[in-house]
Amino acid sequence: MNEHVHDCIIIGAGPGGLQAAIYLGRYNRDVLLLDRSGGRTWHAPEIENVLTNRIISGREIIERGMAQARSFNVRIDRERVLSVRKEGGLFRVVADEGGHAARFVIAASGVYDKLPRLKNLTRFLGRGYYTCIDCDGYRMAGKKVVVTGDEMGSVNIAVAVKLLFTQDVTYLPWGFELPESAKEMLKEEGIAVAAGEAVSIMGHDKMEGLELSDGRTILCEAVMASFGVTLNDAFLAGLDLKRDSLGSRYVVSRTYESSVDGLYIVGPLNTGQDQVVIAAGEGATAAIEINRRLLQQQLEAGAEAQVCTWRR
Ligand SMILES: Cc1cc2nc3c(=O)[nH]c(=O)nc-3n(C[C@H](O)[C@H](O)[C@H](O)COP(=O)(O)OP(=O)(O)OC[C@H]3O[C@@H](n4cnc5c(N)ncnc54)[C@H](O)[C@@H]3O)c2cc1C
Repeated sequence: MNEHVHDCIIIGAGPGGLQAAIYLGRYNRDVLLLDRSGGRTWHAPEIENVLTNRIISGREIIERGMAQARSFNVRIDRERVLSVRKEGGLFRVVADEGGHAARFVIAASGVYDKLPRLKNLTRFLGRGYYTCIDCDGYRMAGKKVVVTGDEMGSVNIAVAVKLLFTQDVTYLPWGFELPESAKEMLKEEGIAVAAGEAVSIMGHDKMEGLELSDGRTILCEAVMASFGVTLNDAFLAGLDLKRDSLGSRYVVSRTYESSVDGLYIVGPLNTGQDQVVIAAGEGATAAIEINRRLLQQQLEAGAEAQVCTWRR
């Protein structure tokens, strides 16, 4: 029996994967979208910077995107992808429920935030506890804000929050010694520096502050935290993919193709910005390019068939 080969397998039903699926579905391509469920967008309660939506939850974006993709005959299976290999010009994708084959693959599985050990964090994630200044800095306008993080980048975020959104910023280094130069910079910008180990977020419906291990409190209405992210990319381990100079994010071309021919990587797995509309735009770009290449393959196959007929 002939093996079924999909035109494209997409891994991850976030904005990147869903937008790619909608484009490829509308080219009448054979698309399989594999998603294990959950993800960064799913956990964002209020998104305000998506064109035409003053405010929308991440969950709504995903649910509406899935329905839209299905309406263009995209098959969506709830499966976790375990590995991707390339053999004889085809991709072999192994997931929880078995194996699949495809001519092209789009990895759109995103990243997840590293979260510190802090009581009540899940209650306030996206509702007072924020991890991205581009997403949520605007919500801090005029508020009493604590910026924290475990590396120097968080100092720059504290300065940006002060310059862009609010005068009342306190910086709390998380488990590292602030260099003198950073202390001076924060002082120059009028940012107070706190010391101590935060253990809990205070408040019920609204954030009221941080409680420290020694019983002291820092009053605040919002926390901007920077602890980095982990890539959802274990399934790519068997491919020798080119990464950035830090050995972390994947290097891609202008059409989001990775260093492996036919494998596209969209969203925050690559070196670009981590935003809903950017992941979606990257998904659309990859899909348009994949469709162009599939058309080319069809034309070449047609020409070859014609040559064979002439030779016969
Ligand atoms: C609290 C919060 C607030 C945010 N606010 C905003 C905002 O206001 N504006 C904005 O633009 N962005 C915001 N973001 C960021 C936004 O969610 C990301 O930019 C977006 O998620 C990137 O989309 P993506 O498609 O790459 O990944 P994701 O949305 O993370 O989707 C990836 C999908 O892949 C799946 N997956 C992962 N691994 C596998 C696997 N092995 N097999 C199968 N499936 C897999 C996941 O389950 C998930 O469904 C916010 C994020 C958070 C956490």
